[in-house]
Amino acid sequence: MKIHEYQARQLLREYGAPVSEDAVVTAAQEAGEAAARFGPCVVKAQIHSGGRGKAGGVRPAKSPREAREAAQALLGARLVTAQTGPAGRLVRRLLVTGAVKVEKEYYLSVVMDGARACPVIVASAEGGTEIEETAREHPERIAQIPVSPTEGFKRYEGLRAAHLLGLTGGSAEELVGLLEAMVRLFLEKDCSLVEINPLALTADGRLECLDAKITFDDNALFRHPEIARLRDPDEEDPKERRAAEYGLSYISLDGDIGCLVNGAGLAMATMDIIRHFGGSPANFLDVGGGATAEKVKAAFEILLSDGGVRAIFVNIFGGIMQCDVIAEGVAAAAAELGVSVPLVVRLEGTNAEKGKEILARSGLAVIPAADMADGARRAVEAAAQTERRAGSR
Ligand code: GDP
Ligand code: MN
Repeated sequence: MKIHEYQARQLLREYGAPVSEDAVVTAAQEAGEAAARFGPCVVKAQIHSGGRGKAGGVRPAKSPREAREAAQALLGARLVTAQTGPAGRLVRRLLVTGAVKVEKEYYLSVVMDGARACPVIVASAEGGTEIEETAREHPERIAQIPVSPTEGFKRYEGLRAAHLLGLTGGSAEELVGLLEAMVRLFLEKDCSLVEINPLALTADGRLECLDAKITFDDNALFRHPEIARLRDPDEEDPKERRAAEYGLSYISLDGDIGCLVNGAGLAMATMDIIRHFGGSPANFLDVGGGATAEKVKAAFEILLSDGGVRAIFVNIFGGIMQCDVIAEGVAAAAAELGVSVPLVVRLEGTNAEKGKEILARSGLAVIPAADMADGARRAVEAAAQTERRAGSR
């Protein structure tokens, strides 16, 4: 689960990190009032996305009037960043922070490293909005320090990070304190990422967190009701939200072939084989093992509600999951909503024949597939045809 910058800043502050005063506002007038309190300030769009600076979502303001103008321009606008996709995100809230005089910007994070099976401190002296480029072109300029999940943070790890960043004396001590806080927060709240980019060395020699991003492990949220309350449904994909209500594993992607599959392994293989035939999946959707027809129906409805879908590929290998249950769910959803894109179906395994009969009786125009590769190829072709037809209209 993601949270907003203002919420991440508040958590970091509670853990003792150097985060300056700020104000969350929803009206231009309030931004002006905050600026009157803080003096020179920065007005920042609160959306679940990075890359706001480059997209005009982070605006310095020298006076209350400038803060009001920045707020006016941002509130209610859709901000398109490198991370939001072309539709962008509606800006409903702004954060006003006192402007910090920056001497140098660093990158600092604690992230779960699956390969090492432990949290890792990631630090770079080249922080700020160009960190992605540094990661691509000079990965050696980004240091990684593994942390023991059972023993927690050690002072010498912090001193090593300080050395790598070129921080000495008082600032090195400040960094050690900040890292200690970040690791404690990471472990206590079951985070998957605690990121500060940039961490600023200020003109008067202090460290200051200018931006904060925290994500949490969804599987541990039940242990942290106070964190679960920070969820902002406005920032979530409505399709993913609906899928979660039904206990479906669903992730939106930006391709055009909607996939309904049982089992995560088969779902990944399906995405791979679609790519192999030159297509692009619109989603990852695993209905799981013991899904009911009702759950399958909800899954199919989610696929139909995706405007970017040009073909649907139902790829089922029935084991515990029975093909007739899948067919019933698909037929029920199709009867209710209608299917306007080609539907390729591969049913194999338990009750496959029964499933095919149900689909045949439903009157749905199904493109049957002999096997998984055949189905993927047909789905890719069908999507391309839909695309051409849409283009020629
Ligand atoms: P992001 O682009 O979404 O990561 O948003 P950030 O919060 O990181 O802001 C973008 C950039 O604005 C930062 O990398 C900083 O360079 C700059 N910035 C943000 N706040 C301040 C500030 O108080 N003072 C100065 N000088 N720069 C700031
Ligand atoms: Mn940032």
